[in-house]
Amino acid sequence: MKSCITGKKAFITYELAEEALLEAHRRYQYGRTSGPVAVYHCEDCGNYHLTSQGVMNEKLARYLAEGKGKRDQEAYHWTEKMKKKGR
Ligand SMILES: [Zn+2]
Repeated sequence: MKSCITGKKAFITYELAEEALLEAHRRYQYGRTSGPVAVYHCEDCGNYHLTSQGVMNEKLARYLAEGKGKRDQEAYHWTEKMKKKGR
């Protein structure tokens, strides 16, 4: 793959870039305030890059919302368990 003038990692398709975007969040747990948030088409190399600026990717937003919900659920589960143990 050709390297880009921006020095960013390039993806041939939007889908691949989007998948990498989600994967990055799965791996590093950036949360909502840091890390890449969107995919954009690059005019220099014709590929897609990730960016930490702009409007958050819809799939990522959904992933983060779901991920947070899951963690809250788990926390609740544990709290209930501890309560029962204490009795
Ligand atoms: Zn580029």
